[in-house]
Amino acid sequence: MSLLVLSGVGKSFPRRGGAVRALDGVDLSVPRGQFLCVVGASGSGKSTLLSLIAGLVRPTAGEVRLDGHPVTGPGPDRGLVFQQGAIYPWRTVERNVAFGLELLPLGRAERDRRVAWYLAETGLTALRHVLPKQLSGGQRQRVAIARALACEPEVLLLDEPFGALDVQTKEDMQLFIRRVWQDTGTTVVMVTHDVEEAVFLGQRVVVLASDPGRVAADLPVNLPAERELSAKRLPEFLSIRARVEDLVRAYHRRHQEKQAV
Ligand code: ADP
Ligand code: MG
Repeated sequence: MSLLVLSGVGKSFPRRGGAVRALDGVDLSVPRGQFLCVVGASGSGKSTLLSLIAGLVRPTAGEVRLDGHPVTGPGPDRGLVFQQGAIYPWRTVERNVAFGLELLPLGRAERDRRVAWYLAETGLTALRHVLPKQLSGGQRQRVAIARALACEPEVLLLDEPFGALDVQTKEDMQLFIRRVWQDTGTTVVMVTHDVEEAVFLGQRVVVLASDPGRVAADLPVNLPAERELSAKRLPEFLSIRARVEDLVRAYHRRHQEKQAV
């Protein structure tokens, strides 16, 4: 059984004189442990999809199930990280990582163990007493990811987490998140508009089309599990990347033509 199942999921937002169909008829199953990347043009419903899984918004049609149970609101079984990881400026790195754990029924020893483990896993141990204002953008995103992971969620939801970083930092973070995924075995659903990033990270890439937001393509990425950055130059990589880029472009163009008439 898949860990995460979306069946006929739709979400409309009311708008003056009608409604925006952010998503319509989305069917998606994500097996436990998978790294899934979702790409699509701006406005294709990527963030709405993650918000529905996170339980921050309710679908207007269909259902989201996690581990067999309908999602009816946010919960510690889903960890969410945004482009600008919302970390608390007045809390040290360590206290930020501990934040979600304070809400869980855990003993002190288990809380301390997890904080120490996830700080080490994300390379933040030496920075544990530092305040966020002293951190770089990449370090801040690692804090946000460590904080989400410390709750040991069933699924980690990432919404363009590296979108605001420079190219070198972004590539460091790509290697970082692949390693974390391999070390922890966490299921990851990551949204990005960067096709290269999606193909490099994902075992599978889903392309969303806009208006209404829907699944336009669902492709496996048949690349070796051990991926160095040099994998981005492999012919297999370039060919799947080109295929996904063509799909994103085609659906974007179709959408623009529809808007023009
Ligand atoms: P993406 O993340 O792919 O850029 P979004 O999921 O943010 O796309 O948005 C999909 C569509 O839904 C867009 O047309 C957007 O304007 C609309 N939308 C998203 N959130 C809201 C909201 N809270 N209220 C009204 N419209 C929204
Ligand atoms: Mg978005």
